[in-house]
Amino acid sequence: MVGTVIREVVQAEDVVRVYGEGDTAVQALRGVSVHIEPGQLTAVMGPSGSGKSTLMHILAGLDRPTSGSVRIDGTEITTLGDDALTRLRRQHIGFIFQFFNLLPMLTARDNILLPLTIAGAKPDHRFFEDLVERIGLTDRLGHRPAELSGGQQQRVAIARALVSRPTVVFADEPTGNLDSKTSQEILSLMRSSVEDYGQTLVMVTHDPRAASLADRVLYLADGQIVKETGRASQHEILQYIETLDLK
Ligand code: ADP
Repeated sequence: MVGTVIREVVQAEDVVRVYGEGDTAVQALRGVSVHIEPGQLTAVMGPSGSGKSTLMHILAGLDRPTSGSVRIDGTEITTLGDDALTRLRRQHIGFIFQFFNLLPMLTARDNILLPLTIAGAKPDHRFFEDLVERIGLTDRLGHRPAELSGGQQQRVAIARALVSRPTVVFADEPTGNLDSKTSQEILSLMRSSVEDYGQTLVMVTHDPRAASLADRVLYLADGQIVKETGRASQHEILQYIETLDLK
C-alpha cells in the first residue's frame, strides 16, 4: 500500500521474561505489548515486583526477553548481535537511573558528553550550551559528582541522557533517591525535555505525582499491563491504583 507510515518509536509485542529455570523460575513479564509514540511522556506504574524494571531494561536493549519482539525506531532488537545492539543503543537510547550512575572521576561536563565521546561523535555546541543552561548546570560543569548534591547529580544524568538527542529516553525511578522538593524539580525538567525538544520519554515510577505529569500511564501488575490511561490527575491515578489493588 502506498502511503506514509507513522513509525512508533518503540513497539513491543507479547514480551515474556522468565528468570531462572524449573521450580524456581520467575515469570517477570507474561506477554506485555507496548507501543510508544514520539514526543510523549509515558509513565509505567505498578507495585514492587510487578516487572517494571525488567520491562524498561528489555525495551532499552539492556536485557533480552525470553520470547516476544521489541522494535526501536523500526529495528527488531531482540535478534541483533551484541555489537549491533550496542551501536543501536548509542544512537537511539538514553537511560536515567535511580542512583545516577555517573563516573566519579569525570567532571559534570565530561559525564554529560560521555555518550558522544564513546560514540566518537562531535557535540553540537549550541545544543550542549542550551541544554546545560535549561538544566541549570552552567556553573557546575567543572565539578565531580562527589562535589554535587543528589539533585545536581541527577541533572547531570538527565543532560547525559539527552545530549545525543536519542530517539527515546528511559528513566527507571528517576526520583526514587531524592527528597520531595528536588524530585519535583527533576520531574519538571523531564517534562520540559518533552515540551522543548519533543523528547520521547518513558519513566518507571511509584509516585502518582510523577505519573500525573505523563501524557499516558500504563499500570503493570504481576508481569502484565492491566490498565492504560491518558493524562490523569494525581487523585485519579490514586483511585486507579486503589481500584486495581496495585499497592
Ligand atoms: P519492579 O521493577 O516492578 O519492582 P522487577 O522487574 O524488578 O519488578 O521484578 C519482577 C520480578 O522478577 C520479581 O518477582 C523479581 O523478584 C524478579 N526478578 C527481577 N530480577 C531478577 C533476577 N535477576 N533474577 C531472578 N528474579 C528476578
